[in-house]
Amino acid sequence: MMLGIYVIQAIGRTTYMMIKARDIVVSRKSKYQQIDVVDTEEFGRVLVLDGLVQSTEVDEFYYHELLTHPAMILHPNPEKVLILGGGEGATLREVLKHKTVRRAVMVDIDEDVVNISKEYLTSWHAGAFNDPRAQVVIEDGRTFVERAGEKFDVVIMDLTDPYGPEVARALYREEFIKKLHDILTEYGVLSTQAGTSFFYPVEYSELKRSLEALFNEVSSFSAWIPSFGYSCSFIVASKGEGLNDLSEEEIDGRLKSREVSTRFVGGKTLKALQAIPEYRKHI
Ligand code: SAM
Repeated sequence: MMLGIYVIQAIGRTTYMMIKARDIVVSRKSKYQQIDVVDTEEFGRVLVLDGLVQSTEVDEFYYHELLTHPAMILHPNPEKVLILGGGEGATLREVLKHKTVRRAVMVDIDEDVVNISKEYLTSWHAGAFNDPRAQVVIEDGRTFVERAGEKFDVVIMDLTDPYGPEVARALYREEFIKKLHDILTEYGVLSTQAGTSFFYPVEYSELKRSLEALFNEVSSFSAWIPSFGYSCSFIVASKGEGLNDLSEEEIDGRLKSREVSTRFVGGKTLKALQAIPEYRKHI
C-alpha cells in the first residue's frame, strides 16, 4: 500500500489513528508549538498543534457546539463571555450566536494560530473575529485572568488537552480553576474540554474534582469526535443551576428563545450524552 502523507493522531499514550492527507497547507513552528494546517481525504482541512488534531472542517461543529451551548443556556442572561484558547475562532462563533452576548473576549497565547486561522480556517470563525462584540487578546490565559479587572458570566476553556502541551496544563490545575471561579459573576458558568477520560482517567478525575470542590453544580458528558478518534469529555461547572436540572424541552426552549441554530446540540442529544457509564460516575 502506497503510504503517502498521513496525520498520525495520538489517541492514548501508545495508540494512534492515521488520517490520510492530500496536501500540507501550512507548517510553521511558533514560539509555543508546531502548527500544521493539512487538507485530508475524509476530514477536509485539519488544524494540528504539536501533532494533535485540534479540529477539522468536517466535524468541528460537534466539539464547538458541545463546549459552548450547554454552559451558555445554563446562565440566565450571559452578556460577557471569556474564551481561553479557542484559536480557530469557532468557539467565538458559537458564543456570538447568543443574542444576549454584549462582549466576548478570546484570549489565546499564540498569535500565529490566530493569524493562520483567520487566513486558512475561514469556515471555523465564519467572520466571528470581525463581530463588533468580539475582542481578541494575545496573551497567556493565566496572565489575563490574574489581571482581569472585570467579571464574566461564562468562561469557556478551549485549550489544548489537560495532558497536551505544557503551555496549557497549568490552566487545568486547582489553583487556576479557583481564579476562574472568582472572576465569574453570581450565576457564572465554566465550561471546559477534558480530552479523553478513557486514556487519561487521572487527569480527567483531577480536573473534575477541582471543579466539584468549588462549584455547586458540576455535570459532565462526552461525545465521540470522529477526527479525535475518541469520546471527548466536557465538564460544565455552575454557580447557579445545573445541567442535570434541565429537561430536553427546557434546553430546546432556551436555544430557541435566543435564536441559536445548532447542528449537533439539542435537548434530546444533550440529555443522552449525560448518560455516562456507571464506572465513570465515580472517577
Ligand atoms: N479543540 C482543541 C482541543 O480539543 O484540544 C483546542 C482548540 S484551540 C486550537 C487550543 C488553543 O489553546 C490553541 O490555539 C493554543 O494556542 C491555546 N493555548 C494553549 N495554552 C494557552 C494558554 N496558556 N493561554 C491561552 N491560550 C492557550
